[in-house]
Amino acid sequence: MEFKEVYCVNCKKVLGRYNVKYYHDDKIGELLNTAHSTHIRNGHQVNIRKFKKN
Ligand SMILES: [Zn+2]
Repeated sequence: MEFKEVYCVNCKKVLGRYNVKYYHDDKIGELLNTAHSTHIRNGHQVNIRKFKKN
């Protein structure tokens, strides 16, 4: 399975892992603006990276 991992560089923490099958780019963008918005508002660098897991 392929996942997208939302990672905050400033907090050094994974904010969430989302299965790409269920979470498309627009859905993840939405989550960044809602669930993870405090990091963005505080000027944190939030990266999205892909990884595969079996
Ligand atoms: Zn953060």
